[in-house]
Amino acid sequence: MRDKAVTDVFEAAKKENRSFLYEHEAKKLFGLYGMPVTRILVAKTEDEAVKAAKKIGFPIVLKIVSPQILHKSDAGGVIVGVKDEQGIRDGFKKIITNVRNYKADAEITGVLVQEMAPKGTEIIVGSTTDPTFGPTIMFGLGGIFVEILKDVSFRVVPIDLVDAMEMLDEIKAKKILDGVRGMPPSDRKTLADILVKTSRMLEDCPEIKELDMNPILAYPDGARIVDGRVIM
Ligand code: ADP
Ligand code: MG
Repeated sequence: MRDKAVTDVFEAAKKENRSFLYEHEAKKLFGLYGMPVTRILVAKTEDEAVKAAKKIGFPIVLKIVSPQILHKSDAGGVIVGVKDEQGIRDGFKKIITNVRNYKADAEITGVLVQEMAPKGTEIIVGSTTDPTFGPTIMFGLGGIFVEILKDVSFRVVPIDLVDAMEMLDEIKAKKILDGVRGMPPSDRKTLADILVKTSRMLEDCPEIKELDMNPILAYPDGARIVDGRVIM
């Protein structure tokens, strides 16, 4: 039986007739499965955003929450590296102006105030539902590796830790995970663990039709999911 908190995440979206989870809801879900996500608070006003930032600690990332904006940076809806209170106030207004300019009638639900993760190796984990095999899971490196080179590995859910470790080894650019050209190595154990937990979550949650974690930032020790999307 899955946790009631998991069901609650989907119910909140269904109640609003949404067929997707906002980033903070997706991360809540990932967190319930023990995955490492950035700390987030949702602010409706500039003052709330300032309060949230002080609670989380600087530097901060601000992001738009809108049912019409799924690709937040395309709309000017992401500001990274905010250093102080004035930056939060300016950033809050800037995000709303940007989003309004991008799509005049976009509803603005709020602004996410979140912990800024340190730089790391960009990883992508995704899932789509195959009509025959059911949920599948995908692993790749972020940026050009996925978008241009399509250098990814796939499995059908469920997977175990051995499968997950194999997925890391199957991409052509796997050497990047060992650390090359001054880039530090990535924590394979943590990445494999994210894959296994994602598999478990997909088995538990037939509501999930598609998901992506883009990017996950990987470090020599640990990793952080900095963006998440779930389509129901
Ligand atoms: P989009 O909806 O456009 O994909 P993202 O949430 O992925 O928006 O943010 C865009 C980029 O900003 C990310 O690819 C990442 O480089 C950076 N970013 C987003 N959130 C964080 C964070 N919490 N910490 C550090 N960098 C972040
Ligand atoms: Mg993203």
